[in-house]
Amino acid sequence: MRALYIGRFQPYHLGHHAVIKEIASEADEVIICIGSAQRSHELDNPFTAGERYLMISKSLRDEGISNFYIVPILDVNWNAVWVSHVESLMPPVDVVFTNNPLIGRLFGEKGYEVRAPSLFNRKEYSGTEIRRQMLNHEQWGGLVPKAVVEVVKEIDGIRRMENLRRSDT
Ligand code: ATP
Ligand code: MG
Repeated sequence: MRALYIGRFQPYHLGHHAVIKEIASEADEVIICIGSAQRSHELDNPFTAGERYLMISKSLRDEGISNFYIVPILDVNWNAVWVSHVESLMPPVDVVFTNNPLIGRLFGEKGYEVRAPSLFNRKEYSGTEIRRQMLNHEQWGGLVPKAVVEVVKEIDGIRRMENLRRSDT
């Protein structure tokens, strides 16, 4: 069985990590699509597709997981053709794992089996909450895999976000 998991991963956190570890243990292969791949250097989307690619691949390798493939996906802003767009870029999959109702609906309408993975500590393991903590210099490091802390440090990510918050007035 080949499974699909889609997210923006801004940043990749322990909620995503727990779900993907679970899927990787059940499925032969997991295809991880990085959505909104073209977005970066925005407060809601601070990291590039390549940086998110590093966060995901290093975190999974650190756990000894290797049955995954990462595919960046650009936005098309056209829900009715979005599944075909994703299909044109990813390997064929049998099952789609998502908690996002729109993603589930769009793949379901195309005949895919859609499953909802369990949520892990959704209050803290949340991209929005982690970005807020990053900007406020709070304890976000405990909410992401160690490799993500290292990537954010390598790219000077917190300073990038502080810079994005500034205005020119
Ligand atoms: P943001 O707050 O920026 O939207 P997010 O934490 O929701 O970030 P996404 O990249 O938007 O992360 O989510 C990708 C997928 O991961 C979605 O299907 C989402 O429901 C799921 N997800 C997010 N947080 C958790 C969690 N703590 N446990 C399980 N699944 C999660
Ligand atoms: Mg989300």
